[in-house]
Amino acid sequence: MNSPSIPFLDLITPHRQLKDELAKVFDRALETAGFVGGSMVTDFEQEFSRFCGTRHCIGVGSGTDAVRFALITAGVKPGDVVLTVPNTFIATTEGISQAGATPDFVDVDERTYNVDPQQILKYLQVRCSVDGTTGRVYNRRLGKPVTAVVPVHLYGQPADMDSIAEIADRFGLLVVEDACQAHGAEYYSRKEKVWKKAGAMGRAAAFSFYPGKNLGACGEAGAVTTNDDEIARHVRMLRDHGQSRKYYHDMEGYNGRLDAIQAGILHAKLAHLGEWNESRRQAAVRYREMFNAANGSEFPPYEPDWSKPVYHLYVIRVRDRDSLLRRLAEENIGAGIHYPVPLHLQKAYDSFGYKSGDFPVTEKVASEIVSLPMFPNLSAEQQTRVVRAILRFISESREQTVLSASSRTA
Ligand SMILES: *Cc1c(COP(=O)(O)O)cnc(C)c1O
Repeated sequence: MNSPSIPFLDLITPHRQLKDELAKVFDRALETAGFVGGSMVTDFEQEFSRFCGTRHCIGVGSGTDAVRFALITAGVKPGDVVLTVPNTFIATTEGISQAGATPDFVDVDERTYNVDPQQILKYLQVRCSVDGTTGRVYNRRLGKPVTAVVPVHLYGQPADMDSIAEIADRFGLLVVEDACQAHGAEYYSRKEKVWKKAGAMGRAAAFSFYPGKNLGACGEAGAVTTNDDEIARHVRMLRDHGQSRKYYHDMEGYNGRLDAIQAGILHAKLAHLGEWNESRRQAAVRYREMFNAANGSEFPPYEPDWSKPVYHLYVIRVRDRDSLLRRLAEENIGAGIHYPVPLHLQKAYDSFGYKSGDFPVTEKVASEIVSLPMFPNLSAEQQTRVVRAILRFISESREQTVLSASSRTA
C-alpha cells in the first residue's frame, strides 16, 4: 500500500539528463585552468542579459550578493531605509542591511502574495514626512530617509510593477527588483503596453542561481541585471575588490565573483530554461484543471491577466495547514512552507520592535500556505495523487467538523 514518493523538487533527473554536457564544462575548465572570470563568465552574462532583455548582466557569487550590489550601485546609502515585504526569504533583507541600509516592511496583497502598492503609499503618507528643502521622504520614527523599494517577485509571480513605479516616481524612490525566484517571469506593463521580463523593470535587479531555483547552478551563483551602464560598471568593480584593472583599486569592494565552472553550467542550462518554465506552467494548468474538476476551485493560485508567472513554487492555502502537511508526509508526498515565520517576527529582527498583528495579511497567509510538488518533469499521474490526497484530507476534515458540531448539539 506504500505508494512511491513524490518529491517536492526533483533536482536529480535534469542533472542526469544533462550530465555529458555539464561534465564538458568541467573538462574545459580543467584544460584552461580558467576558474575565475574569463570567457565562460562573459558568455553566460551576455546570454542571460539577452534572455532578460537587459543591456547588462553581471555574474556574482550569490543572490544575496546580487541584492547588496544592486542596491549599493543603484544609489542606496548607509543610513537609508529600504522598503520590502515581510514574506520573503531573509536574503532580501540581508542584502539591504549589507548595503548599510535599514530594511522596513509593508504588507502584501492576499491574492498575489506580493507587495501591495497601496501599502507602500500608506507607509509613505502616514509614517513619513517630506523634507521641505531636499524633497526627500523621511521615516519619522527612524529619523532616516526612505530611498528605495525592493519588490520581490515571490514564487515566480511578478509584483505589480506599474503601480510600484508610479508611487516610487512620485516619492523619488529607487526600485530594485528581487527576481531571485522569477527567471523568465513576465509582466504586462499597462502603461507602456508591452510585456517585460522580471529583471528588466527596476533600476537594477537581483537573481539567484541557487540549485533549487528555476535556473540553478551546481553550487552558489547569482547575477545583477540592469540597463544602466554606470550601475553595470560599478557592480563589476564591487564584485572584484573594487578593481578598475588588475591591482588598481578605485574603492574597496568584495570577493563576490561568479566562478567560471558555475557560469559554464548556467550557460548550458539556460538553453533549457524556456522549455523548463513552460513545463512548470503546464503543470500549473493541470493542477488548476484537476482542482476545478473536483470542486476545489479555491485552491489554484491567482494569476492576474498582466502576469505570466514561472511557478518557482506552487502555493495553495488551507486552514488546517499543519495537519495537511502531516497527511502529505504520510502519503509520501513532498511539500514545504515558504515561509513559516514572517521576517518581522524573526529573532534576527527583534530589535525592530515589530509584533504579531503588525502585518496581518502576511501573518494570516504564513499560517495557511503550503507549497506543493512543482518541477519541470512533474507528471500528471503524480499531480493526480497530490490533488486527491489534498481533497480527501479536506473532505474528511469537513466531515469531522460536522460530526463534532452534531455531537455537541446532541
Ligand atoms: C534565493 C533567494 C535569494 C538569495 O539567493 P542566494 O543565492 O541563496 O543568496 C534572495 N531572495 C529571494 C526571494 C530568494 O528566493
